[in-house]
Amino acid sequence: MKDLCRRCTICCYEKVIAENGTVVYTDRPCSYLDLDTGLCIVYEFRTRAKAECVQITKRVLDLGVLPAACPYVKDRPGYRPPRLTPRLEKLARKTLGAGGPKAARRSGRNRR
Ligand code: SF4
Ligand code: SF4
Repeated sequence: MKDLCRRCTICCYEKVIAENGTVVYTDRPCSYLDLDTGLCIVYEFRTRAKAECVQITKRVLDLGVLPAACPYVKDRPGYRPPRLTPRLEKLARKTLGAGGPKAARRSGRNRR
């Protein structure tokens, strides 16, 4: 898949699944995320280093893990975005532009 990643780091934060199936983020970064550089320190073998770390495929895009403004999903019809923490929403606005979850909802996209 073409590399569209803007290196916002958000998808490297821990998440849980709510009862209704929504992915809910926490403010806890993966232990392999270098917060100074925003890079994964085990990138070449990340899926072996961390079982939950998955490569981005079309199937993964449908899981609702990536934030609404992530280039991989921002124009995806019917995409159901995860719930970010206030801190991560701020990070999304700063790194991915105005298309954070709130803006996406205002524009009528990503309705649940
Ligand atoms: S959320 Fe999207 S843009 Fe941000 S790090 Fe993950 S794949 Fe890259
Ligand atoms: S292993 Fe690397 S790419 Fe995977 S979640 Fe952790 S920091 Fe991100």
